[in-house]
Amino acid sequence: FPSKLPAVGTTIFSVMSALAAEHQAVNLGQGFPDFACDPALIDAVHQAMQAGHNQYPPMPGVPALRQAVSRKIAAQHGRTYHPDSEITITAGATQGILTAILACVHPGDEVIVLDPCYDSYIPNILLAGGVPVRVPLTPGTFRPDFGKISAAITARTRLLIINTPHNPSATVWSAEEMRTLEELLAPTDVLLISDEVYEHMVFDGAEHQSAARFPGLAARAFINSSFGKTFHVTGWKVGSVAAPAALTAEFRKVHQFNVFTVNTPMQHGLANYLADPQRYLGLPAFYQAKRDLFRAGLAGSRLKLMPCTGSFFQCVDISAVSDLSEADFCLWLTREIGVAAIPLSAFYGDGFDQRVVRFCFAKEDATLHAALERLRKL
Ligand code: PMP
Ligand code: GLN
Repeated sequence: FPSKLPAVGTTIFSVMSALAAEHQAVNLGQGFPDFACDPALIDAVHQAMQAGHNQYPPMPGVPALRQAVSRKIAAQHGRTYHPDSEITITAGATQGILTAILACVHPGDEVIVLDPCYDSYIPNILLAGGVPVRVPLTPGTFRPDFGKISAAITARTRLLIINTPHNPSATVWSAEEMRTLEELLAPTDVLLISDEVYEHMVFDGAEHQSAARFPGLAARAFINSSFGKTFHVTGWKVGSVAAPAALTAEFRKVHQFNVFTVNTPMQHGLANYLADPQRYLGLPAFYQAKRDLFRAGLAGSRLKLMPCTGSFFQCVDISAVSDLSEADFCLWLTREIGVAAIPLSAFYGDGFDQRVVRFCFAKEDATLHAALERLRKL
């Protein structure tokens, strides 16, 4: 039968992790921590299982977790989302994003994404029958180009997807940029997906500017978070979506026939764990120390460091080191040098080669040192 996604192959993250394993390379490619989560989080899940929380939870998620998410957003961003009607627990941000797209995009609707973007967005839009419209972020700085975004909006535009802190560029949108977007969208009825999975990884005193902080954005936004990213448990696949009641109602129509619910004991465990805000307030400092270690280690090398204000990714310009395309460079680096990375071209619609590759620094310090020892030889 004709493929629904003819251009889609295996994701670059799976490809590079498999190659890293094959060559026993240090895997700084796919974005996941190689360190353990807090044992208190495991205990909380264990206790939930032993207490018998092992059957289907309510469709939108365990109430205690939705309440905890609501309190967290209110404390951090000053907006109250009603746990019953405005917060839904998802199987990771991946499902939250797909579900939001399926809920609001009709066949033929245009969806604006900012290039480079996370690799699931475009296939998700295509599955909904939507038309992806790729608007480049400013080359070099990766800042949003509001002139280009504005020019891309048509009568058929249903949705815009933003991501801050940004994968792969490690940039963080400023309050001013969020306000500019708010003004730009004000005369339109364009909806927004705000992918905020790296919300707790912002550095140098910068603040995460959630769409929840901006009334004109919050009113039209599905805000996606990921407990997997936040608490070093990417394999658990639990996230949340906050959206106004009318949007949440449509979201849940799809959610209930997509996954219906998300695993119960993890939700109970996370609800208990979230009771202590210190568990996420310490994350920026924790990741900033890893970023600084990694950057200091590369400082004298021929890999040119690009700015990193958020996320757990560090991009480097490879042009002083190699003439290879960034995709070939990543293959070579994994096989010959023993360090896996991700080429930025994987995040561009046209595979645009900028000579930039991405490393993930969510790793044990020993792992980072092992990679640096190899990378410094380049
Ligand atoms: N959005 C971005 C920008 C990501 O980097 C990722 C990868 N984790 C996701 C969404 C998916 O998050 P999750 O693992 O919670 O599904
Ligand atoms: N988000 C992670 C990354 O960018 C990978 C998640 C995945 O493998 N799909 O590396």
